[in-house]
Amino acid sequence: TDKGSADLYFHYYGCLQHQQNMLQDYIRTGTYFAAITENRADFEGKVVMDVGCGSGILSLFAAQAGARVVYAVEASDMAHHARALAAANSEIGSRIKVLHGKVEEVEVPEKVDVLVSEPMGTLLVNERMIESYLWARDKLLKPGGKMFPRLGRVHLCAFSDESLYGEVAQKSTFFQNSEFYGVDLTPLHRPATQGYFGQVVVDQLPPNVLVSNCVSKTLDFLTCTEAELQDIRIPLSLQVAVPCTVHGVASWFDVLFDGSQTQRWLSTAPGLPITHWFQLRCLMEQPVVVSQPGATVGGELRLVAHNRQSYDVHVTLRAPPLVPGGEEQVSHGKFDLK
Ligand code: SAH
Repeated sequence: TDKGSADLYFHYYGCLQHQQNMLQDYIRTGTYFAAITENRADFEGKVVMDVGCGSGILSLFAAQAGARVVYAVEASDMAHHARALAAANSEIGSRIKVLHGKVEEVEVPEKVDVLVSEPMGTLLVNERMIESYLWARDKLLKPGGKMFPRLGRVHLCAFSDESLYGEVAQKSTFFQNSEFYGVDLTPLHRPATQGYFGQVVVDQLPPNVLVSNCVSKTLDFLTCTEAELQDIRIPLSLQVAVPCTVHGVASWFDVLFDGSQTQRWLSTAPGLPITHWFQLRCLMEQPVVVSQPGATVGGELRLVAHNRQSYDVHVTLRAPPLVPGGEEQVSHGKFDLK
C-alpha cells in the first residue's frame, strides 16, 4: 500500500483519543468482552494473538479468560500504551507480550491457538485490515485454530429518503451563482454536485427509510482469501413493496463470535443501539422510481480495493421502466469510502 497513507493510518491509531472512541463504544467492547470471557474453554491455557491490539484491551480480555500467553501485535505507537496497561494490570497483564510492528513483519515465537482482532471498518472491509487478519490466520494460526470473530456479513437494503436527497443536492446550488463578485461560478456546479453525491453518508439510519428486503454477503474469515477481498461484487435483488423513489443503498454489517460455549453477534444494524460505525448509505444522484408494488431493483454493489487502505464503491441500480414499454431505469454511482 501507499506509504504516506499507511503512515497516516497508523498515526491516527497512535492517538489515545481514537482508541478511547472505540473503547467507549460499549456495544462493541462489551460484546467482545462477553464473547471472550464466556468462552473460557477456547482460551484457558491457550496461546492467543491479538491482531492490531491498540490499547491492548482484547488481549487483557483474553488473559482474563485464562490465556497462557497473548501476543499483542500493534503497528502504531499505541504499542507503548498497551505495554503500560499490561504492566499496570499485572495479574493478568504478565501473560501479555506486546510486539510493536505490523503483524506481517514482527517475529512471533510460536504458532497460536486463537486469533482475536477487531479489524472491521465501515462496510465491514474498509481500512483493509481484514486482510491482515487473514494473513495472520495463514501464517500464524495452528490448523483448526479459532478466530474471534469467525465471520462477517455485509447487509444491503434499498432506502427512500427525500429529505437526505434534498439536503445533499442543496449543497452545490451555491455554484449556480453566475454573479459571484462578478464571476460566473456555474461551470463548477456539475463537478461540485458529483463530489457531494460521491461521498458515502455515514450516520444513524432511521429504520423507516428502508423499503426492501436485504441482500447479504458473508465473509467466512476461516476460509476466505485475501484475493477475494480485492474485488467484492454483491448482486442486488431488492424487492420494493410499496411504490416509491429509491434513493440508493443502505448498508451495515455484523460479525459472529462462534465460541464453543456461546455464540454472539456484534451487529451494527439500524434500530439497534448505535455503534461508532453507525450505518452507511450510498445516495444516488440519479434515483430510480419504483411504480409497481413488489417490483425488484437489481444491479450490484461492487467494492474495488485501492492502495490507500480503502475501497472504491460502485453502485448500479436497475429498475423496471416507469411506463409500460419504456426503457429500463439504470443509475450508476461511484463513492469514496473516506
Ligand atoms: N484491538 C483494539 C484496537 C482496534 S483498532 C480494540 O479492539 O480496541 C485496530 C488496530 O489495529 C489499530 O490500533 C491499528 O493501528 C492496528 N493495526 C491495523 N493494521 C495492522 C497491522 N497490519 N499490524 C499491526 N497492527 C495493525
